[in-house]
Amino acid sequence: MGSTKKVKHLKIVKTACGLCYLGCGMNVYVDNGKMVKVEGILEHPLNRGVLCPKGLAAIDYAYSSDRLKYPLRRRGEGFVETTWSEALDNVSSKLREYAKNYGAKSVVGIIGMPILLGGYSTVSLVRRFYDVYGSPNVFSPESICYRNQIIAYILTLGKFCVAEPEKAKCVILWGSNPHHSRPPWVKRIQEALNKGASLIVIDPRRIPFARMAALHLQPRPGTDAALALGMINVITSEGLYDKEFVERWTFGFEKLVDHVKAYTPERVEEITWVPAFKVREAARTFAAAKPACIIQGVNALDQTAAGFYTARAIAILQAITGNVDVPGGFVRASRVHLSPIRLPEKIKERPLGADKYPLFYECWGRLFGEGQAMLLADAILSGEPYPVKMVMVTASNPLLTWPNAKKVKEALEAVDFLVVVDVFMTETAKLADLVLPASSFLERMELCDYYGTVNGIPYVMLRKEVIKPLWGSWPDWRIWFELAAKMGFQEYFPWRSIEEYLDYVLKPSGLTVKYLLEEKPEGVPYGRINYYEYKEVGFKTPSGKVEIYSKTLEEYGYNPLPVHLEPRESPLSNPKLAEEYPLILTTGSRIIWFLHSQLRNVKRLRDKYPESLAEINPSTANRYGVSDGQLVTIETLRGRIRVKVKTTEDIAPGIINVSHGWVEANVNILTSEEPENQVVGFPGLKAELCRITKA
Ligand code: SF4
Repeated sequence: MGSTKKVKHLKIVKTACGLCYLGCGMNVYVDNGKMVKVEGILEHPLNRGVLCPKGLAAIDYAYSSDRLKYPLRRRGEGFVETTWSEALDNVSSKLREYAKNYGAKSVVGIIGMPILLGGYSTVSLVRRFYDVYGSPNVFSPESICYRNQIIAYILTLGKFCVAEPEKAKCVILWGSNPHHSRPPWVKRIQEALNKGASLIVIDPRRIPFARMAALHLQPRPGTDAALALGMINVITSEGLYDKEFVERWTFGFEKLVDHVKAYTPERVEEITWVPAFKVREAARTFAAAKPACIIQGVNALDQTAAGFYTARAIAILQAITGNVDVPGGFVRASRVHLSPIRLPEKIKERPLGADKYPLFYECWGRLFGEGQAMLLADAILSGEPYPVKMVMVTASNPLLTWPNAKKVKEALEAVDFLVVVDVFMTETAKLADLVLPASSFLERMELCDYYGTVNGIPYVMLRKEVIKPLWGSWPDWRIWFELAAKMGFQEYFPWRSIEEYLDYVLKPSGLTVKYLLEEKPEGVPYGRINYYEYKEVGFKTPSGKVEIYSKTLEEYGYNPLPVHLEPRESPLSNPKLAEEYPLILTTGSRIIWFLHSQLRNVKRLRDKYPESLAEINPSTANRYGVSDGQLVTIETLRGRIRVKVKTTEDIAPGIINVSHGWVEANVNILTSEEPENQVVGFPGLKAELCRITKA
């Protein structure tokens, strides 16, 4: 009888996981309104039935007893509960006050993930609010994340492409560790290996795939541009490039050939610590196999002085070997056609950082539309170029995830009014004047339209409201709709429900919420992978070709060809500093159990990896007299933290790897926010000098 009742009330809701940016298809079993089990959707083209440990812990995450349950306002050192109505009245009156007294640009929005992981339609909804309000100052992880390679690929290929490993004969994993950062891609790479593809891993760490690789190159962090240029040197000097493609479809190849003569494998060995013979072997293997693709990690190569040029060099490697727009190479999938949501005509000023990093903001009339967040703390603290009075943080925890944590804290403490919207009480939320409880991804509907962009899979799916918002939390869309109403912005936010809004968004695609909800809950293929599209439309660059030599970069005063730039702190660029701080600190690598600073409160995940660890090669540990499990102090010019040592042969000597996101050992106390990457202003988080002592 009991089991019959159970079956009767059990329903399965098909949704998309929102615990990282990938969006795996997820079945959620709901029994009498309570979620009881999750599993991967077998027919979902991204994850094909598999969920990573984070996804499998989604129910624990959503039902965590430490969720923010009601709006909180500051009283003295603590908080007291308030109502949504009072809280939004408070926010709207502050928004009006600062706009009147200091101009709307004195209000800054910081948006993050994952409560915003609803794709374009959710993120743009928030930005639309700021467009109407009149502040150009909306910042996001783009200032240290994906945007570097997106802009570099666009400037080179005219578009952002991703690798298609399952069809490749050679795959290079370059600063990418899919077992931890991109779990659904493990199967795709494995599929290629099963068919006989060769694998090259380029990473100072011996990641799981390195054990299956034909070749493992371990460059010194921050020197990947030199390595890529060395590979181009081998490919061009040995005539291994695709002559037909190069001749017809590239601009500036001859200049490149001359330019890379300086990057002989021997010189590259001096810079990168990768033996010259391995540089040659990697280049020859990659050029000989067709199709071939490079999976560039997100951040690993970007957060370095030469990060922009590294991404350009990778795009060039793909192009000169004839591996763009081909199955198994670099591909672009159709984007879902959606209604415009941003209101660029309302933007009267450019955001902070747009003048200093103009290509980060806009390129060839394509508005990326963000300022460089790494300049924000200084702007707040100095009041220059104008005062910043209010910051509204949505789904972001900059105190743990942005570099130079001490300065970030000082800056957020200095603003007059700080609002944080999040699922849990984060370190950043603890500083706030007002904390608003957001719903988890299982309690809201939104559109996952990013499978093509991120995974090269032309697909679209609706994330469902599996259960009603828990406690007094609200989904993002409701927060912004209601705040817009309080501000009198109804003209721009006319929708009465999320369904109505998403139907507006979906209109150009021909899809509807009803269709995606009732007929295709598992999602639906949309468009195609645009193989060989250059043959029909060329490349969307000013020359119509792959721009190996970039006149755009030249006009802006940057290097028109990729170059290696030493990290600001390195044994080569600053040998004196290296005497005091002889080790290279690299930060930000992913751990499968967590996402940035999130999920450490979920016991089943935390049990797997209870504390922050400093990974050090045993030879390095010996040199400094420290051993496995011992507490050490790691120190940089910015500060010091105490952390436990994990000795492992999986990291090259002389390098310390510490992950980010830990309250107890916040590695961002050690990092610098100062922009190093010339073109987009990213800081150099992958290569900074440090020293260790026994704690
Ligand atoms: S990889 Fe894991 S966390 Fe990311 S979407 Fe898939 S199941 Fe969720």
